[in-house]
Amino acid sequence: MAEYQGSCHCGDVTFKFVGELITKGLRCNCSLCARKGAVMTTYALAPSALQIKGKTEALATYTFGSEIAKHHFCKRCGIYTFHQTRSKPGQYRVNLGCVDGVDSSRIPFDIFDGASLP
Ligand SMILES: [Zn+2]
Repeated sequence: MAEYQGSCHCGDVTFKFVGELITKGLRCNCSLCARKGAVMTTYALAPSALQIKGKTEALATYTFGSEIAKHHFCKRCGIYTFHQTRSKPGQYRVNLGCVDGVDSSRIPFDIFDGASLP
């Protein structure tokens, strides 16, 4: 296990989490993720494992389709920081591009076929 910290671009949203060592990421081909292009954690974090700091009013939430997944982003800089998943409601995947010490442009990744979900 390792402890990670991260932030949005402007720094209004900061967070910490403890999770498995990050050696690869996950991309999704759904209509939203295709547009975001983000590489995410392969695992989902329990709400108790993700500590969201910074300005609590800085986060906005976008939902679509089933509206189960909650896609959070910073109101000021627009960056997607983490979301609550559809497959494990309430649990979080984190945008690896926001995580300190992780190079999301060089990490290998798996593909989640979100486009095929009904
Ligand atoms: Zn921001």
